[in-house]
Amino acid sequence: MLKRAIFIGRFQPPHKGHLEVFKKILEEVDELIIGIGSAQESHTIENPFTAGERMLMLSKALAETGIDTSRVHIVPIPDVNNNSLWVSHVISFSPPFSIVYSGNPLVQRLFKEAGFDVRAPPLYNRQEYHGTKIRKHMIEGKRWEHLVPKPVLKIMLEIDAVDRMRDLSKTDYLLKPKRKRQI
Ligand code: ATP
Ligand code: MG
Repeated sequence: MLKRAIFIGRFQPPHKGHLEVFKKILEEVDELIIGIGSAQESHTIENPFTAGERMLMLSKALAETGIDTSRVHIVPIPDVNNNSLWVSHVISFSPPFSIVYSGNPLVQRLFKEAGFDVRAPPLYNRQEYHGTKIRKHMIEGKRWEHLVPKPVLKIMLEIDAVDRMRDLSKTDYLLKPKRKRQI
């Protein structure tokens, strides 16, 4: 029987760690479904990119690795904000699958209870390949470009991702006056 597995992430942005995970999974199964989580989110510090932008970044990055892209399916999955409904929600957005790869204990728990074959993929250079860190470096003007696959970098430059991140990090709140120190 054909083995089809799902891996869900927010991919804000997709980075080299994600790509290593995809390659590893495709060594073990026939087909991989990449679920783009929080698909309705965009233009926030945590979720700067639209589902469409993330989809484009993922498909271009996969194509460059030489992976047979007919083995990969990318589906956007909006949040449902209800853990007990989440598994059936994911199923309703995805091609059929029987295996779930996730390092997230809650995701593992929910799919295990629903009877899926749940597997934990290894972490690759997690200190560096980490979405939160990449977004922070973009705002702070530190180097981040080497942490994402080349095709992802190309799209991020195309959509002025650094400018977007910096605008999102601004606020129209006045600075709070410093509290007088209590002696
Ligand atoms: P964020 O800091 O925004 O959460 P992230 O790097 O954790 O970014 P996600 O989109 O949350 O990226 O990633 C989806 C899944 O990919 C996560 O559940 C995580 O376990 C896994 N993952 C993230 N980085 C790595 C990595 N370097 N190696 C292996 N797996 C990773
Ligand atoms: Mg994460």
